[in-house]
Amino acid sequence: MEYASISGTDIRASRVCIGTWAMGGWMWGGSDEMEAAAAIRAGLEKGVNFIDTAPVYGFGASEEIVGKAISGIAREKVFISTKAGIEWKDGRVFRNASRERILKEIDDSLRRLMTDYIDIYHVHWPDPLVPMEETARTMAELLSRGKIRAIGVSNFSVRQMDEFRKTAPIHACQPPYNLFERGTEKEVLPYCKQNGIAVLAYGSLCRGLLSGRMRPDTAFEGDDLRKIDPKFQQPLYGRYLKAVDELDRFARARYQKGVLELAIRWVLDQGADFALWGVRSPRQLDRVEGTMGWGLDAEAKKEIEEILKRNIPSPTGPEFMAPPRAPEAAAASKGENG
Ligand code: NAP
Repeated sequence: MEYASISGTDIRASRVCIGTWAMGGWMWGGSDEMEAAAAIRAGLEKGVNFIDTAPVYGFGASEEIVGKAISGIAREKVFISTKAGIEWKDGRVFRNASRERILKEIDDSLRRLMTDYIDIYHVHWPDPLVPMEETARTMAELLSRGKIRAIGVSNFSVRQMDEFRKTAPIHACQPPYNLFERGTEKEVLPYCKQNGIAVLAYGSLCRGLLSGRMRPDTAFEGDDLRKIDPKFQQPLYGRYLKAVDELDRFARARYQKGVLELAIRWVLDQGADFALWGVRSPRQLDRVEGTMGWGLDAEAKKEIEEILKRNIPSPTGPEFMAPPRAPEAAAASKGENG
């Protein structure tokens, strides 16, 4: 396993970070708690000592699974990333990065995770209805009180990070980033590099599209978000699957690896410090060793670009996942905006 440090802290964690959104079940068609906990333990056995979760993942369920899974392990051997700033009510989620909300969320998260500190605490989404100074000041307070060891922001633009940093430091940034979703590399990635902010890339497998498991007739259950994910709808889906197939053949011919290993390696070699890899069963981490200890050279990156351009000339982004602001959620629940 490769490890990386987070500047301004003494955190040094595995470059593969276990993503636990699907473990919470919500928006992933449900999940099996025992399998999920076994996945975390399988990761730890393979040297993956970094886990990302959030209160909203299963409305507390994901954090509780993480808490139980690591309960027998010395606390300093594992690094926990979680988040604040998303509220839920009557089945709707909306942004709330107010001081009151964050102070409630930190204590709820500490209780569910059965710990007395969080390693990296992210503002999950920027909240345009709360002054940035209020959010940043609250995060700085948690840092100085020792409840958190590092401040992170997620889904923030460069302008929003600049605004936040007038009040508090940012140690880590969590943007979407994978072979198919590249918006982050325009401004956010260079900004983080320039300012010593660690990048935790989320959705490294593009919600499983880059795992190699997807087929044209793959069906998703219940509330699985891939039922509404634009990339999983035909005719776009067919084009993405063709790109996956070509990437897989390229990885096999050049490196004797599959598209999954290529996708994780690419995120890390493009400059992300950590790749968040979402799992919910232990076998999904079977190939973690294959993502480590090798690298993509410039020629390989060029060939990958050609595969992407040829198959997906106009990529679509991950914007469909953005949670609404509070009034939009209220209006939607009254049926005012569909
Ligand atoms: P992802 O890592 O791109 O994909 C995860 C999915 O890929 C899994 O649930 C699984 O789907 C499939 N998969 C994983 N390993 C596999 C394997 N070996 N073989 C076949 N399929 C495999 O997506 P993600 O979970 O959305 O993103 C990763 C993490 O980033 C999340 O869990 C979360 O911690 C974080 N995240 C953060 C934000 C944010 O706003 N900050 C947003 C999204 C995600 P199936 O189980 O259905 O097969």
